[in-house]
Amino acid sequence: MAIDPVLVVHGGAWAMPDSMVEAHLLGVRNALAAGWRVLVGGGAALNAIEEAVVVMEDDETFDAGRGSFLNRDGRVQLDALIMDGATLRAGGVGCVERVRNPVRAARKILSESPHVYFVGEGAERFAAEHGVELCANDKLIIPREVERLREYQAKTPTSRAEGAREMGHPTAPGSEMFAPEISHDTVGAVALDRDGNIAAATSTGGTLNKAPGRLGDSSLIGCGCYADNSSAAVSTTGWGEPIMKLVLAKWTADRVMAGNLPEWAAQEAINYLKQRLNGHGGIIVLTALGQFGIAHNTPRMAWACKTVKKEEAGVERGGALG
Ligand code: ASP
Repeated sequence: MAIDPVLVVHGGAWAMPDSMVEAHLLGVRNALAAGWRVLVGGGAALNAIEEAVVVMEDDETFDAGRGSFLNRDGRVQLDALIMDGATLRAGGVGCVERVRNPVRAARKILSESPHVYFVGEGAERFAAEHGVELCANDKLIIPREVERLREYQAKTPTSRAEGAREMGHPTAPGSEMFAPEISHDTVGAVALDRDGNIAAATSTGGTLNKAPGRLGDSSLIGCGCYADNSSAAVSTTGWGEPIMKLVLAKWTADRVMAGNLPEWAAQEAINYLKQRLNGHGGIIVLTALGQFGIAHNTPRMAWACKTVKKEEAGVERGGALG
């Protein structure tokens, strides 16, 4: 019996200003449309999430692909992971500077490599050898981000001390760059296909003014992304360091495996992130039964979901939607 497909995407969790809501909603809806085309055509969840994420990587609204945050040196460095819940095969890239669509490179690793993870130049070489187009780093940089970095660096040491105090981490230097007011526009997608398989993908430019070589949670298996047919497909966004310390995507999938509903697990994951490490962010969770959950503790998170019965998108509502 064919299974009804489900697709859920997110485009970052933060204190998104009103002026940016429309662009985010349009972006997640476009991603949803691209992924849904694959799913209704009987395509694999893996293909659907790849296409959905590519749309958001190509959209300068988001912190993924072109238009991403710049690191301290003024360069774009991208991370992405994609994972197949049927086989547990995964592909990840970290700190790539010349790949326009890191999720495409991650997909090639998943499909064509015995390895799971490539970083830096080796990842770029692997991508090029497998037909993924490379580009110069400046092709990924847009004026908005040059200006954002300039402003940020101009006001840094003062904002550093204030931000750290505000976060409740007086000893955490630089934690102001992860305050919810600072945009977290990482993108992600989870899907269920007609064959009953689930998959997840996450792609990011990381955090503003990050140190060169800094890797976030997004591309780390079990942290920013995870998928297993027997538990859940999960994608997270937010302040990456706490998320990775808690291995949050796998933590959430384990709660689903133990018999909990994904909407409960999503909310619990965000509660755990807050309580344990004063972290903030958002999460989408989907099971092979088509139940899903969306949660965040930031003022807003861009999300969209589609089933055969309904399509929804928003920036405020989270929790039980499946
Ligand atoms: N989690 C990402 C990182 O820390 C940032 C984000 O989600 O926007 O690299």
